[in-house]
Amino acid sequence: MLKIFNTLTGKKEKFIPICSNQVNIYVCGVTVYDLCHIGHGRTFIVFDMIVRYLRFSGYKVNYIRNITDIDDKIIRHAYNNNETCQDLTNRMINAMHHDFDSLNILRPNHEPRVTCYINNIIEFICNLFAKGHAYVSCRGDVMFDVSSFKNYGILSSNKFAMKEINVCMQSTNIDKKRNAMDFVLWKMSKKDEPKWYSPWGSGRPGWHIECSTMHYIFLGKKIDIHGGGSDLKFPHHENELAQSMCAHDGFYVNVWVHSGMIVVNQKKMSKSFNNFLTIRDLLKLYDPETVRFFLLSTHYRKLVQYDINSFRRARLVLQKLYIALRDTDINAVPYGGENFVSEFVSKMNDDFNIPGVYSVLFNIAHEINCLKIKRSPNIHGMAATLRYLGNILGLLYYDSEYFLQNIFIQSDDLITTILNLIKYRDDARKNKQWLLADEIRDKLVRMGVILEDRSNETTWRFNNIKIKIN
Ligand SMILES: [Zn+2]
Repeated sequence: MLKIFNTLTGKKEKFIPICSNQVNIYVCGVTVYDLCHIGHGRTFIVFDMIVRYLRFSGYKVNYIRNITDIDDKIIRHAYNNNETCQDLTNRMINAMHHDFDSLNILRPNHEPRVTCYINNIIEFICNLFAKGHAYVSCRGDVMFDVSSFKNYGILSSNKFAMKEINVCMQSTNIDKKRNAMDFVLWKMSKKDEPKWYSPWGSGRPGWHIECSTMHYIFLGKKIDIHGGGSDLKFPHHENELAQSMCAHDGFYVNVWVHSGMIVVNQKKMSKSFNNFLTIRDLLKLYDPETVRFFLLSTHYRKLVQYDINSFRRARLVLQKLYIALRDTDINAVPYGGENFVSEFVSKMNDDFNIPGVYSVLFNIAHEINCLKIKRSPNIHGMAATLRYLGNILGLLYYDSEYFLQNIFIQSDDLITTILNLIKYRDDARKNKQWLLADEIRDKLVRMGVILEDRSNETTWRFNNIKIKIN
C-alpha cells in the first residue's frame, strides 16, 4: 500500500484515490522568462518519478502542469530583450521542452498556458466576489480578502503566516489593501504592458489565481495530489488553497506533496550568489542520465546538497550499474530477483524512498556480477530485472557500452559517434527511410545534439559548437 507524506497533515498517509484507479495530479509549472535551472530539473524529475511510479502501480494518471506565461518578470525580460512577451515565452517554452526531454521527464497530459484561460480566471474571480472574498483596492487591483477565510495559514502553519503578517505590517504597501496578507487576484496593467479586458478594467491575472482556475478546469473541484517545490508552500499554495476552498466550499486537495530545494556549497542556489546553473550548461558537462540519477538520489523531500564534484561522483556510482549490465542481452525478459522487485516496491510505497530503492538496484548489480563469475545462464534475466526497475525511475535507458565509453561527454570519441550518426541519418533520409531517420534524430536529441536541417546542409549544435556538414 502506497504511503505519501502530506504537507497539510505533516504525516505519511495511505494513498487512496478519490476515484478508484484514477489519479489526478496537478503540479505548479515554470514561469517561462529564462532558461530552466537545475532547481527546476530537481522538482520536475521528482514529480516525473512519482507519476511514473503511480502508472507502474496500475493507476491511470492525469497529470497537469501549468505554464505561467504572463507575469512581471516576463514583461521585464521581454522589454530588456526588445521582444514581445509572446516571442519570449514561446522561445522559453521550446527551450524548457528540450531540456526536460533530455532529462527524460515525460510530458504531462496537459500543459495549460495562463494566457489561454483568461476568461476562466475572470469567471473564477467573479465567483469569489459573489461569495464575499474579494474587493477592489484603492489602486484598482482586485484583492483576495484573507480575513474572509478563517483557515488561512493551515498549509504552511498559522504560526508561519502570522510571522509573515508581522513582516508585511511594516511594509509600505499596507495602505493599498485592507489587510497586509491580502493578495492580488487581478492586477491593473500599466501603459504598454499586456492587458486583457475585465469587469474591473484592463489588466492581467495575479499569480495564484491561475493555478486554482487551471486545476478546476482540468481536474474538477477535488484533486488527489497537488505538488510543487517546497518554496511554493508559502505564499503560493497557501493562497491557492484559500481561493479554491472559498470558491468551492471545502477541501480540494487530498495530498499536498512538496519537493526539497537545491543548496549549492551550503548556499541556496540563486543568480545573486552566482551559483546558478542552467540545465543546458550542466548537460554540456554531463550526460542527462547522470544528472537525473544525482537529482533523484536524495530523498525527494530533503534539500539536495550540491557542489562541483557531485555530478562526477554520481557518474562514477551510476557506472557501477552499467558495468553490471555490460555484455548482457538487452532483449532478455526479467527473470529471477522477485525478492528484489518486492523490496523495490516496498521502498517506493514508503513515500518514494529513492535512497532505499537505489540500494536495491546496487544489490541486483552485485547479484549480476556474482552470476557472471559463476557463468550462470541467469545473468541476462537478472540484468533485465535491473533494467526494468531502473526504467520505472526513468533510468538505465542507455546501451551499457555507449554509456561506459563516453566518460567525458566532450571526448573526441563522442564527436566521432555524433558525426557517424548524422551521416547514417542523412543516408536514411536519402533512401526515404523516414522512421529510421527519426529514430536516429531522437537518439541524437537524447545525447544533447540539436540538428538543423537546411536545404543543402545539416548543422548541429552541441556544447556551443556549431558545425556545418556539407
Ligand atoms: Zn501553482
